[in-house]
Amino acid sequence: MRPMIQTEPTQLTYRWIMHFEEGNKDLKQLLGGKGANLAEMTRAGLAVPPGFTITTEACRAYYQGHQLPEGLLDEMKQSMTELEQKKDQRFGDPTAPLLISVRSGSVNSMPGMMDTILNLGLNDETVKGLAELSGNERFALDCYRRFIQMFSNVVFGVEGVYFEKILRTMKQSRKVETDQQLTAQDLAELIVSYKNVVKTNAGKPFPQDVQEQLLLAVEAVFRSWNNHRAIIYRRLHAIPDEQGTAVNIQSMVFGNLGDDCGTGVLFTRNPSTGERKLFGEYLTNAQGEDVVAGVRTPKAISEMEVEMPEIYKLLSETAAQLEAHYRDVQDIEFTIEKNRLYMLQTRNAKRTAQAAVKTAVDFVNEDMITKAEAIERLDTAHLNQLLHPSIDPSITLNVLATGLPASPGAASGQIVFDADTAESWSKKQGKVILVRSETTPEDIHGVIVAQGILTSHGGMTSHAAVVARGMGKPCVCGCEAAEVDDELKQLSINGRTYQEGDWISIDGATGRVIDGKVELTDVNLSDELLTVLSWADEIRSMKIYTNADHPEDARKAREFGAEGIGLCRTEHMFFGHDRLPVVQAMILAENLRDRLEALDRLLPMQQSDFEGLFKAMDGYPVTVRLLDPPLHEFLPNLDELNEQMADFLKNGREQSNDANKLRTLIKKVRSLHEVNPMLGQRGCRLGILYPEIYDMQIRALFQAAVISIHKGVEVIPHIMIPLVGHYTELKFFHERITSMALEIFTAAGVECDYEIGTMIEVPRAALTAEKLVPYADFFSYGTNDLTQMTFGYSRDDAEGKFLTYYVDQKVLPNNPFQVLDRDGVGQLVDLATQKGKKLKPTLQAGVCGEHGGDPESIMYCQEIGLDYVSCSPYRVPLARIAAAQAKLAADRRHSNCNLS
Ligand code: PEP
Ligand code: MG
Repeated sequence: MRPMIQTEPTQLTYRWIMHFEEGNKDLKQLLGGKGANLAEMTRAGLAVPPGFTITTEACRAYYQGHQLPEGLLDEMKQSMTELEQKKDQRFGDPTAPLLISVRSGSVNSMPGMMDTILNLGLNDETVKGLAELSGNERFALDCYRRFIQMFSNVVFGVEGVYFEKILRTMKQSRKVETDQQLTAQDLAELIVSYKNVVKTNAGKPFPQDVQEQLLLAVEAVFRSWNNHRAIIYRRLHAIPDEQGTAVNIQSMVFGNLGDDCGTGVLFTRNPSTGERKLFGEYLTNAQGEDVVAGVRTPKAISEMEVEMPEIYKLLSETAAQLEAHYRDVQDIEFTIEKNRLYMLQTRNAKRTAQAAVKTAVDFVNEDMITKAEAIERLDTAHLNQLLHPSIDPSITLNVLATGLPASPGAASGQIVFDADTAESWSKKQGKVILVRSETTPEDIHGVIVAQGILTSHGGMTSHAAVVARGMGKPCVCGCEAAEVDDELKQLSINGRTYQEGDWISIDGATGRVIDGKVELTDVNLSDELLTVLSWADEIRSMKIYTNADHPEDARKAREFGAEGIGLCRTEHMFFGHDRLPVVQAMILAENLRDRLEALDRLLPMQQSDFEGLFKAMDGYPVTVRLLDPPLHEFLPNLDELNEQMADFLKNGREQSNDANKLRTLIKKVRSLHEVNPMLGQRGCRLGILYPEIYDMQIRALFQAAVISIHKGVEVIPHIMIPLVGHYTELKFFHERITSMALEIFTAAGVECDYEIGTMIEVPRAALTAEKLVPYADFFSYGTNDLTQMTFGYSRDDAEGKFLTYYVDQKVLPNNPFQVLDRDGVGQLVDLATQKGKKLKPTLQAGVCGEHGGDPESIMYCQEIGLDYVSCSPYRVPLARIAAAQAKLAADRRHSNCNLS
């Protein structure tokens, strides 16, 4: 609960507002990140312009009641009076005008997604007062015209282009390049035109009453919580819709009062690389939005050391103080007004995954945090970008230009010039690079689907850069050599012109823009990441296996730290061009003899596959799942076959040998047709109907084991049966496997330990787990099928048909094929594990469905005491970290329990 605050002399009880002096960093839920940190800085005695925060609770009440909550107006009035006293200025008074900023501030940082208004309190009268007091008419008019634009855009929805067009025309007619070159007279004319734009487009005049301005602004910031881009961003980052935003009202300081003024953004360490060095950008004689909006290209912070040495020194000291206080990299906004430094914001910096890992390691080495804290801080979804490909340094590239290396990773794609096209092309054509002169938060849906982003304007802290880094997308920004015509959909760079659809590549680590498509190379784990992973390994208790079907995948997974293969889908070995004809011959065989003959041909191939896996996993378990999919998947598509037959008919060749063969094939494909193949003749059902198929696989596995043992490889075969629903199915194979192993080992005179397990993919198997235990050394939860069968959703259709809609409409909290459904599917996993381990404490239990690589699901696996998860090779490093985080969370829960 928020504290209740009494104020003098009115005794007004604040319910919806908290002043900066009263809050602190721990009140983020109530004050939003920005408000909480402004309060913390104020309390630490830093120069923060005074102000107050309207709480997220007020925002939630606004959405519930569809109007500003009762009492808020009085509290705002009272708070403004206090602010007037602190600043010795008055809101709306031309003789000493108080000007304020009105900024959104959500609990989780959502950069640029909601609205902000600066210079509120200006009108036709106060602007004169500001001119007089500052002794700078041009400055006052400049503030006013910016305010009109910003306010009208945020409050009335008047598009920025209307104002920008007038500004451009004015600059052309005055024959000047920059805004700063416009005179006071020019700005006064602009203001008249701007007000006309507002009247025409908003249908009402620009409000002159400052109280009205304030109310409209607060409401508009509340509303901006639900604008399109904010909603998309929340979905992407799993931020709850109900949270709401706080609104920060703060007295203005001016970075645009002259050359002894400025504004900037500073990171205490490089957010791209993690290097321990101040990193940032600033502009002299400018207001805050100029830096982040990417309109003017800012100067590097290092230049400030020369240009404003005193300020630079103070700024560096403050940065160090803030970093030590928060024990994390800070992203700081500051303004210099007449040589005085003010802090406007500090927050934990968004950074690339590379920087996140490096700073985590550095902080541990600098004794700022513990190893466990370092692991807990890592965002596994974010670390994904470290597993992104890069450009092979040995390739000769046609580098067109170099921009700012804003977010690492390399990408190739077809050029698109707007977010909507990015979205539609990425669905149809695949890979796109979003090329813009600069991105705005409205482009977020394009940024999400693009392989990478290239902008011609904007610095390292521009919107494009911040958003791309957060998402782990390669991004090159501020590439001034690239001329982007957003309207003509054309990119001119280094004498070449590219149209929509042309291929281009970018390297977000170096800033290079490269002609055409380039081959991307594999991922190399940095020393820092290896360090963090080794800490994760010290902490975690669950094993991390991999899903791998080929030796190359297995090798990659081992490099990434996999401790075994948790699932080898043997059917994937059947699809190779040398295998498929034999597999088809096996399926089309008219009798057992023909089928056995085809299986005999398959056996050596399958055996060499297994030898490859054993070699790659030397000393680690290799879990082989016997054939799972329905057989028709190996045969050609019926429609295509019918078309071929139609061709024979057309050419009068319907009696030819080939046509007869085709007819037999069509008949077989038809006979294998099932209405619900996923519930049909697949998995162990197939193995029971055609035991010779599974026999071949079992034989191949043990023969491969024997040969590998002879070669000095340490083999640990695990063999598992898919889609078991009744214990008799498992028992059937248990007997066959043990007797075949005995036969092969006896003949070879060598042997090894092996394990037999069952997949649990059918709810009945989970419910009757105790009956399976006598025949199983391990339970491997195939949570893809288990989700399909528990929900009754077809996994091949649901996502394309209704599941996305379900998630959008919040019918379901998330896609259960991605995040394990704890209540239903999870309950089955939990139940089966408990039953199994009760009867056989040595029973190993793990997940090998897609959920095995999902951090939230891994958390659940730890909670219910699973022994391992298995995921695709590229997810192994993340799973190692997620498993360590899960263990730390479990330990914390445990120690909380012990304390209470
Ligand atoms: C599963 O069902 O979770 C599983 C791993 O098997 P597959 O995805 O191959 O059906
Ligand atoms: Mg399955």
